[in-house]
Amino acid sequence: MRAAVLLEQGRPLEAADVPPPRPESGQVLLAVEACGVCRTDLHVRDGELPEPKLPLVLGHQIVGRVLGGGGRFAEGARVGVPWLGWTCGECAFCRSGRENLCERARFTGYTLDGGFAELAVADERYCFELPGAPAAVELAPLLCAGLIGYRALRFAGDAERLGLYGFGASAHIVAQLAAAQGRRVFAFTRAGDERAQSLAVELGAEWAGAAGERPAELDAAIIFAPAGELVPQALAALARGGTVVCAGIHMTDIPSFPYELLWGERSVRSVANLTRADGRDLFAELRRHPVRTEVEVFGLEQAEEALARIRAGEVRGAAVLALTPSGSAAS
Ligand SMILES: [Zn+2]
Ligand SMILES: [Zn+2]
Repeated sequence: MRAAVLLEQGRPLEAADVPPPRPESGQVLLAVEACGVCRTDLHVRDGELPEPKLPLVLGHQIVGRVLGGGGRFAEGARVGVPWLGWTCGECAFCRSGRENLCERARFTGYTLDGGFAELAVADERYCFELPGAPAAVELAPLLCAGLIGYRALRFAGDAERLGLYGFGASAHIVAQLAAAQGRRVFAFTRAGDERAQSLAVELGAEWAGAAGERPAELDAAIIFAPAGELVPQALAALARGGTVVCAGIHMTDIPSFPYELLWGERSVRSVANLTRADGRDLFAELRRHPVRTEVEVFGLEQAEEALARIRAGEVRGAAVLALTPSGSAAS
């Protein structure tokens, strides 16, 4: 099968013919229709996340059709494979509804092969059933950008005035959900990024502008951009009792800041991975409040180019690889 393979961190992905994966007991074999490209893929490729499986097939937002070994899924069913690929089921975290924190967890497209390939295998217990429409490329970003964004939004509590720092794949989904929930959304981007700012306003943000600006006091802020200097900036914009949620898996160092910014019961927290319950809840929420995803579609051979565009902040919405004609067709 064709796959985009990472042989060594810091080197470009290479499109190659590789042996197809063989499903083990409990795994589904999937024909990949589409796979989202996430900033986390970029962090793995660039070496900011340590010790991936090598060689590695990246990609943890897989939309595929079941070819075999389906378990609870019929052959031909459309399923989604997220970042969380396996957990131990035995540790204190797994037994308390926090499987996202399992120290033995395995992750799709990082410690397990992912979906930048024509075929993929996945533990069926961690797959989500997906609807037959819309097109696979439009569903794929929900599987990480949507899921992590949704988990981050829950940690924002009942914040009415919500700041989103970095308006990429995740924020463009969260903005729509938050607006549908009746929150006021303020989108902070790099100065002068008019493409992202216009998308934010189109998708329900009340205001969009540069990160240093102060359009309103905020009840909560979610930081999607991997830039540590945004943490004190977001804290400075918070009302008393507010929370800054860091939603990325990697961030540059956070500069020191005066205690005054944290005083008043403000808090800073991170969001790590996802649980299967997050997925069930997100897809239920999306039935109440449908969102549209804005995608830039690439072929498998262009995986490296898609990563480069994410690195440069040039993607409007989310980047997705289409593996089959049906993956990119609006069905
Ligand atoms: Zn565990
Ligand atoms: Zn991701």
